[in-house]
Amino acid sequence: MKKRMKIIVFILLLGSIFLMLGCNSTTEKKKKTMKNNHTLEAIFPKGEKGSEDFFTGNAFNIGLVAPDSVYTTAVGNVYFEPGARSNWHSHPAGQILIITDGIGYHQIEGQPIEVIKKGDVISCPPNTNHWHGASPEVGLQQLYIVPNTEKGIVDWKEEVTDTQYLKK
Ligand code: MN
Repeated sequence: MKKRMKIIVFILLLGSIFLMLGCNSTTEKKKKTMKNNHTLEAIFPKGEKGSEDFFTGNAFNIGLVAPDSVYTTAVGNVYFEPGARSNWHSHPAGQILIITDGIGYHQIEGQPIEVIKKGDVISCPPNTNHWHGASPEVGLQQLYIVPNTEKGIVDWKEEVTDTQYLKK
């Protein structure tokens, strides 16, 4: 190979390395922006702010199907702002959660916190203590389904402390 040819190949190589590095840093920047400005998609109206007796931070609940004698099922949507979560609680007949947007946490007592995100479906067995809410940085949109409401809907317990919440 001629000397001039070698120099051209070297310059081309150097150029593509710079291009690759440049692309990478753009992707990293994009990821960061998405995390910081993550706007959640609201499918249902926001509803009413949940009571401080049962929630830490800002959580909003809207009932979509009221429990009655025909369906004996409660369905609703909760939007948790970043950092917001429910108190510990249990459901006499269990509960199913469908995550429609965002990133959050779910924990069954005695088990590690699991990260939940858009598209996840979580089943919590009857009479099992658990809590659910948003992650510290990104909020959470969740649909809840409580079956067999004739057995009861929810039994509220103590709040989830910062130490418990930040264990993730
Ligand atoms: Mn629950």
